[in-house]
Amino acid sequence: MNDKSSKVSVRKLRSKLDECSKQEVIEFLIESFKMSKEVQTYMSIKINGEDGIQAIIEDYKKKIQAEFFPAGGYEKLRVSVVKKTMSDFKKATKDTGLTLELMMCFAEVAVQYIHENGDISEDMGDYFTDTYEEIIQQLNKEKTSELYKQYKDRLKSIVDTTGCECWGIHDSLEGSYSVLKWVGYDNENDEVDFRNTISYAAMKKWLDIPEETRQRIIQNVWCGKCSMAVTIMDFSIQLDTCGIVLKGTCSNCGHKVVRVIENNN
Ligand SMILES: [Zn+2]
Repeated sequence: MNDKSSKVSVRKLRSKLDECSKQEVIEFLIESFKMSKEVQTYMSIKINGEDGIQAIIEDYKKKIQAEFFPAGGYEKLRVSVVKKTMSDFKKATKDTGLTLELMMCFAEVAVQYIHENGDISEDMGDYFTDTYEEIIQQLNKEKTSELYKQYKDRLKSIVDTTGCECWGIHDSLEGSYSVLKWVGYDNENDEVDFRNTISYAAMKKWLDIPEETRQRIIQNVWCGKCSMAVTIMDFSIQLDTCGIVLKGTCSNCGHKVVRVIENNN
């Protein structure tokens, strides 16, 4: 049997399905669903919508994360696994926006790893800088700055992460970031939404602070407009040269507020 005779064309499949009863089509789809993980992902997204997408991204993110920060044992840092995860996701979602999100998550995990260890395997380092470059190139292809606005803080916090000198990684990231055409594009636009901004390295530092202290910090941020200490809302957590920085809004007046938390504080 050669390939031509064994594999039906989309056209043939369509005409065959056309002849089937509804029950037969249902059975056919259920069998297909059971057969492949990709199909399961694809159908889950179609059926569950936005919530389903989040859950699926989480699944794929976990797979990537496990290569860097496994629950037990040593990190494996297998580029092949990360690449496979990425391409499976791409095939299953057929959505470049979602793939961009997963690429971003990978870049964040990788930069956190390098930040903490001061090193990474050369091939994973290369794949990380290639991915970062690809994200930038994709944003540059966009016709508007919408997507850029969504990712700009996360992209910036990756390039600003300290301790990434190994394999020329920092220089490479800076090179990619410097060609991001939207930088400076929206300086006059104050409507920045920080809520979706997460830097994993920064998040880790934040979570290392005892819960009680974190609550005290959240409820004690200076608001220039209210002229008093207020509660910070909808904040992002990013790395700063001397520690981490919370950026959000005042719970009283909605004005932008910032709180820097220095290391060993
Ligand atoms: Zn205020």
